Amino acid sequence: MFLGHFAVGFAAKRAAPKTSLGWLMAAPLLADLLWPIFLLAGWERVRIDPGNTAFTPLAFDAYPWSHSLVMMAAWGAAFGGVYLVVSRSGTRGGRQSVTMPGSQRLGVAALLAALVVSHWVLDVVAHRPDMPLIPGGGPLVGLGLWNSVPATLVVEGTLFAVGVGLYRSTTRPLDRTGLYAFEGFVIFLAILYASLLFAPPPPGVEAIAYSDLVAWLLPLWAWWFDGHRSVG
Ligand SMILES: [Zn+2]
Repeated sequence: MFLGHFAVGFAAKRAAPKTSLGWLMAAPLLADLLWPIFLLAGWERVRIDPGNTAFTPLAFDAYPWSHSLVMMAAWGAAFGGVYLVVSRSGTRGGRQSVTMPGSQRLGVAALLAALVVSHWVLDVVAHRPDMPLIPGGGPLVGLGLWNSVPATLVVEGTLFAVGVGLYRSTTRPLDRTGLYAFEGFVIFLAILYASLLFAPPPPGVEAIAYSDLVAWLLPLWAWWFDGHRSVG
């Protein structure tokens, strides 16, 4: 899935209003942030196969380390652990950071871990049966929403609208950056998504990996405008 992961990140702000959207966005995107690195390392494989599903020309031949259920649970635990370490000092993490008691930080860490695993659930809905449960074999699952472009647009578009709406009603801009950098982010994602539908298949696997690495900037962008918005 694509927009659905961003929807989950936006919606999570309602559950963890004191936590920067940078964290909340990085968690559901994590699998797709790791994927291009593992592709370049040769640990995972993708093939360009126009018509593989109606929505994407990519055949995800093997991605056990970034996209299996077991590994996503492990990445989720690791990501929650990194959050616990980084959030120990309340002065870090931007203007909006608030020192939280340990029990609350544990709750946020658990939420972040769940958000990482949510990527697997949404990808199972979207992909044809290519999603592994465990690395190194085992069954592959997938419900194949991407076989229908209209159904994909309805489901992902609705999720995205709900997620953005929850974020918009949970926060308000403190300044122009908080308004325009947020709206710009939403518009950028919508245009990127639409362009996926009309773009020709990518020229090669390396091109996919390198262009995907740019996605690392998206949680930073979210962290930036979220620091210019307040809760309530
Ligand atoms: Zn994915």
